[in-house]
Amino acid sequence: MKLIKSGTYSITIGHQALKNLSAFLAKSRYSSLYILCDENTLQFCLPTLVISCKALAQAQVIEIESGESSKSMEFSAQVLQTLAENNADKKALLINLGGGVVSDLGGFSASVYKRGIDFINVPTSLLAMADASVGGKTGIDFAGVKNLVGTFAQPKAVYIYPEFLKTLPQRHFINGLAEIYKIALVSDLKFWNELKDQAKTTDPETLIAKSVSLKNKIVSKDPFDHGIRKILNFGHTIGHAIESLLLGSESELLHGEAVLRGMIIESHLAFQKKLITKKALSEISSVLLSAFKPQILPDLSIQAVTDLIRNDKKTTGNKSKFSLPVKIGACSFDVEATEQQIQKAFLYYQSLYNDKA
Ligand code: NAD
Repeated sequence: MKLIKSGTYSITIGHQALKNLSAFLAKSRYSSLYILCDENTLQFCLPTLVISCKALAQAQVIEIESGESSKSMEFSAQVLQTLAENNADKKALLINLGGGVVSDLGGFSASVYKRGIDFINVPTSLLAMADASVGGKTGIDFAGVKNLVGTFAQPKAVYIYPEFLKTLPQRHFINGLAEIYKIALVSDLKFWNELKDQAKTTDPETLIAKSVSLKNKIVSKDPFDHGIRKILNFGHTIGHAIESLLLGSESELLHGEAVLRGMIIESHLAFQKKLITKKALSEISSVLLSAFKPQILPDLSIQAVTDLIRNDKKTTGNKSKFSLPVKIGACSFDVEATEQQIQKAFLYYQSLYNDKA
């Protein structure tokens, strides 16, 4: 088992995680307990959680539909409504049992209900275990823009029980791996090399622990995203635009899938800006292509992409700013790029596919 301290809270990773949560609940004095889940985590994870934590037999379960479209004002209102109807007071606790959608939505709702009640994350997807459940960013999508509305709010604790991954569909497992490759690429060459050689054979718990500890190190230096934390946004400026544009379409992508494409495209921006060599660009592209086998993107209007980037939280004024690698294992932030450079980078991504076809 691994215990990572993160500011005011701790992250427990391993087989004992749910036992530790049970011990925490037994000694805490919450007035009421709520568990937020979606239909899949309700079916596959909730029974194990409740068996492991007796205190949760009394908890009220709030169920949302699975999927990104639940990360909305409407579903947040549903969570808040349930809390209000049950007269939840300031001492209520919300446990977010699910993937990143549940932890982002639940964390956001908890952080605004009565100006903030405690919440605990029990992530159940690889993406949420390795990334979304830690770091204190909460949010919902709004007006067609990913994470447009949100708060910084730290969970009371995070309990990561990797056994939950046994029922996670393969597509979602691979989706989570994308964020793990990202953290390696921006901050740890050795980890990147390990992933290159043995990501498929390393047990998920080891990958999660490494990813969480790297993320935690960066977030601790800059909890509110003013500086170094921005390197975690590598791949996300383009990734979020792609994700938002394809949301609800036949080609809809999962978050990690969009970020993966964003990483390749933004690496080309880094190359155009002479931050990385051609060799580094080729290595990043070939490692990501062979590990994830992403498909060609449907035709996206560059205008629509840049409009969305302008709406991105990372943009100030009219300038599109990116977090771009300076070598494998290190990343810069607040690098400006023009529409023309962005277009060239998209063409590069599509050409990789053409080369392989
Ligand atoms: P998700 O929450 O939609 O979960 C993926 C799917 O897997 C869902 O269908 C879910 O029901 C199912 N699932 C989850 N755990 C399962 C299990 N153990 N068994 C069976 N099915 C299971 O999506 P996600 O990929 O976990 O998270 C994506 C979200 O995370 C995005 O909205 C993204 O913006 C957000 N995110 C947030 C942060 C942050 O720092 N706050 C970081 C990265 C991503």
